[in-house]
Amino acid sequence: MFIDSHIHMTSRTTDDYVAMREAGIVAIIEPSFWLGQPRTEVGTFKDYFSSLVGWERFRASQFGIKHYCTIGLNSKEANNEALAEEVMDLLPLFASKEGVVGIGEIGYDDQTAVEDKFYRKQIDLALELNLPIQVHTPHRDKKAGTSRSMDVAIEHGAQPDWVIIDHNNEETVKEVLDRGFWAAFTIYPHSKMGNERMVEVVKQYGSERIIVDSSADWGISDPLAVPKTAALMKERGVADEAIHKVCYQNALEAYGKSGQFNASDWEMTNGVDQKLNFEGNSVLRGGQSPLVEGADSNIIK
Ligand SMILES: [Zn+2]
Repeated sequence: MFIDSHIHMTSRTTDDYVAMREAGIVAIIEPSFWLGQPRTEVGTFKDYFSSLVGWERFRASQFGIKHYCTIGLNSKEANNEALAEEVMDLLPLFASKEGVVGIGEIGYDDQTAVEDKFYRKQIDLALELNLPIQVHTPHRDKKAGTSRSMDVAIEHGAQPDWVIIDHNNEETVKEVLDRGFWAAFTIYPHSKMGNERMVEVVKQYGSERIIVDSSADWGISDPLAVPKTAALMKERGVADEAIHKVCYQNALEAYGKSGQFNASDWEMTNGVDQKLNFEGNSVLRGGQSPLVEGADSNIIK
């Protein structure tokens, strides 16, 4: 069983859901993020957050995967200050909904003063609501940006073990672990981190507080990054227990602090029933037959 604690399913297809489930992914966390096209109205944020706690959660369930999310204002769009203020007003309502396991993904992009302002406000919100914090670290000037993300979290009184620092690499991992934070790694093709490097990180630093995720989104990315990395770790001699921790257990512990993320949610599931719908809408289009597990699933009608 695997958990992918950072994946943007809004951008992915039903084929991805099917492949993820076949590969052993049982639960996923979808962070609130930028959609590639900057939003210009607060209403589009409202509808996006609604779909993360509503339709997308339902859609995942139709393929046998438990969907959770984190709610937040991403750092890139924080730079539109007037709009960001309006988004901040929406966050408490959505962050308190069922299936929300943290405030995220928040942090720095270009490390501007406005990004800093909204990062700090959202740390305070997470503390107020007793939710874990999922931090997106910047791709440019990563090392300094990662240190700064942790400094600011501490300054606001966050406990390091309630903060998941994501998009780490070999340069940042030691400081993140030494300071007691969770260190998540995004296995994203041709950019952030390849999985051969990930295997070496686990061999060097062990499996405590390390989390593997895909951050698969609308870019060239891989929704099977977690199971593929687990398979590569096994091939290269990493112990089963360590693989289980970095590809499942650690994410469960980190986000489980929300009280919204429990293994019993997916262990006691009744399986897929595509006869269900969400506010009258189904994943099926006219004439398609619903998959009901336990029925004969080899028949294509
Ligand atoms: Zn992301």
